[in-house]
Amino acid sequence: SAKKQGRNRFCWFDNSMEQELQTRNTLESGMRSGIPKGEFVPYYEQQIDLATGKLTGFEMLARWESPTQGLVSPEVFIPIAEETGMIGDLSLSILRQAFDDAKNWDQSLTISVNISPIQLLDPWLAQKIVKLLVETGFPPNRLEIEITESSLFENLSLAQSIVGSLKNQGIRIALDDFGTGYSSLAHLRALPFDRIKIDRSFVSSILENSESAAIVKAITGLGESLGMPITAEGIEDKEIENELRNIGCAKGQGWYYGRPLSTEQTRKILAERNLLPSQRADEIAVGS
Ligand code: C2E
Ligand code: MG
Ligand code: MG
Ligand code: MG
Repeated sequence: SAKKQGRNRFCWFDNSMEQELQTRNTLESGMRSGIPKGEFVPYYEQQIDLATGKLTGFEMLARWESPTQGLVSPEVFIPIAEETGMIGDLSLSILRQAFDDAKNWDQSLTISVNISPIQLLDPWLAQKIVKLLVETGFPPNRLEIEITESSLFENLSLAQSIVGSLKNQGIRIALDDFGTGYSSLAHLRALPFDRIKIDRSFVSSILENSESAAIVKAITGLGESLGMPITAEGIEDKEIENELRNIGCAKGQGWYYGRPLSTEQTRKILAERNLLPSQRADEIAVGS
């Protein structure tokens, strides 16, 4: 064993692997107990119409408010949820909260939600989402579902049938993170996408890197002719926003408009902008 080999690098390597496993086990058991306690919650990132500067809605981003670890990123817990089979229930529980939140916002505001490729292997996914919409009273035409290209690889015909059922309900579908991973133009016609989201890696380098700018321009033109308007993600300053507006991107989101906000913080900025029409004073008091 590594112990018998003494103080060599294999021993050190074993310890670090053991530590990694330990961390991972701690996270996994924390997730199992945290899900029923409501520690997994939606946060919201503003999406802006670049031509008018108006708020059009939000992308919902999952967060884990862990009592021991603080605010944990989905980049940490989504892969664990996928590997352990928790992703389906976890996603539905966060979606329910998001629909409950967003049904009280101005009717013009949309929400975009991320769905894991693993969830597109569940033949009942569309029915489960529609059931949530009915139960919460959130209108399907204000919902956009973001899926990545990797969703297309495992079981394309199932993904096509799920997306078909969702679209029949009036739900829109966006292709997320376009331009990363195994991007292919063929993917644009694999599913009837309503929108393309250009990945942050292109957007953030658009001013320094002429290739990035050329790619964003080309995708925008392509999207326009295919009837798929563009959302650019990762806008961090005014100059990038200007450039994207000139290129003709329809929407943008990013830290320039603010960090992702909790339910309460989101309600606050919407109230300030008179975008909480159905909200009564007593509801605000109870909810906060
Ligand atoms: P994504 O869908 O591409 O979401 C955008 C990510 O970029 C978010 O990270 C967001 O906080 C971050 N971001 C937004 N604007 C900026 C910016 O201006 N600069 C920089 N540096 N970053 C920005 P987040 O929230 O950590 O989410 C990471 C990924 O986790 C998401 O990528 C999405 O793929 C996944 N994810 C989030 N929520 C869910 C969920 O409920 N279900 C599933 N399956 N995946 C989720
Ligand atoms: Mg997304
Ligand atoms: Mg994205
Ligand atoms: Mg991205």
